[in-house]
Amino acid sequence: MMDFQFTEEQRMIREMVRKFTDRDVRPLAAKIDQEKEIPKELIAKGAENGLFGIAIPEVYGGSGFGEIGYCIMMEELSHGCASFAITVAAHQSIGCMPILLDGTEEQKQTFLVPMAAGEKLGAFALTEPGAGSDAGSLKTTAVADGDDFIINGSKIWITNGGIADIVILYAVTDPSKGAHGGITAFIVPTDTPGFSVGTIEDKMGIRGSNTAELIFEGMRIPRSQVLGKVGEGFKNAMRTLDYGRLGLGAAALGASKEMLTLSIRHAGERKQFGRPIADQQIIQFYLAEMAAKIYAMESMVYRTAAMADAGEKFSRESATVKLLCTDWQGEIVDRALQIHAGMGYMTHMPIERFYRDARINRIFEGTNEIQHIVIARDLLKKGGY
Ligand SMILES: Cc1cc2nc3c(=O)[nH]c(=O)nc-3n(C[C@H](O)[C@H](O)[C@H](O)COP(=O)(O)OP(=O)(O)OC[C@H]3O[C@@H](n4cnc5c(N)ncnc54)[C@H](O)[C@@H]3O)c2cc1C
Repeated sequence: MMDFQFTEEQRMIREMVRKFTDRDVRPLAAKIDQEKEIPKELIAKGAENGLFGIAIPEVYGGSGFGEIGYCIMMEELSHGCASFAITVAAHQSIGCMPILLDGTEEQKQTFLVPMAAGEKLGAFALTEPGAGSDAGSLKTTAVADGDDFIINGSKIWITNGGIADIVILYAVTDPSKGAHGGITAFIVPTDTPGFSVGTIEDKMGIRGSNTAELIFEGMRIPRSQVLGKVGEGFKNAMRTLDYGRLGLGAAALGASKEMLTLSIRHAGERKQFGRPIADQQIIQFYLAEMAAKIYAMESMVYRTAAMADAGEKFSRESATVKLLCTDWQGEIVDRALQIHAGMGYMTHMPIERFYRDARINRIFEGTNEIQHIVIARDLLKKGGY
């Protein structure tokens, strides 16, 4: 198990992303929520600052800062705007990562390099109407035809789906084999004939993040765009989600820190019964509980990121990060709202947006119930911790 300390370089990444968030992201967050769209200029500025390939090795056009760098970025962006942070996350940790994990050198040069530069936006398309938690029960088919596969079916709730240039698509190539052996991953440029975008969802939170239905009708994909081996797509998806879940933990951490900061400020300023509410022991206990959880979240996020960077297996740890950090984020944002009370409930304050935005983190990239299953399976397989 790795210990870690932030390096000078990692401290500089934090400083850079914090400045970017303060200057370019936070001021737009309410507008992004209301208009349900990330401005293209913000995506371009994020790309200029290297955010879209922060974890990707430099040989593939990224910044090479690994998972620790990626988690620092997610944490800092999540102080400002969850919709923007999730757009970057869906692109990088689940859009780029499948190619980094299993792509051929040629696929990496062709697809990953422009993605890491932020010139092309990525998405990860696994979920279908009948396949949510049971992600192995896909219905989208990919049938071999000479040097191509012909793909028919649809995906729902795909983050960045309506704005992506490249989608990593999981489809059934052998229905007799099920998830292990029967599913294959494909790299799909969204200008491929037969690809179309269906419904764009309206949502409770992360309203600026694009969530789309994708439809494939007789879509022809050459074998050169099969990602990894035929039949090994499910493994690719699960390994990718290890990275995604860790990043969601970092997002939960950043949003929780923001809630604590606002709560401390408000508790000191708001006077009732002739004194600041911060003088009340119950408010102090709320703040202490928030801080204690944040310390634990921070410890587990960066310990797990260090494991990932060291090349260790981190599936159970990333499921643990996802489970605890996102559960605690829900409790922390609720406490923040309680401390702000009526003022926190009003839409001119950011608290209610953070409250709505937090809820998705317990649902996507495997619900928190599914994280229990991942953790328990690993324990039972190993017969111990
Ligand atoms: C805003 C948004 C963005 C998304 N982005 C993407 C994306 O980019 N790419 C993508 O592929 N998918 C995406 N998804 C889909 C997301 O990953 C699924 O919603 C999630 O995996 C859960 O599936 P489900 O919603 O169908 O819930 P269901 O599977 O129907 O689950 C319903 C309930 O039953 C519980 N449950 C199910 N099975 C079990 C079990 N075996 N044991 C215990 N409890 C169980 C669940 O935990 C949950 O509480 C997104 C979803 C949303 C809402």
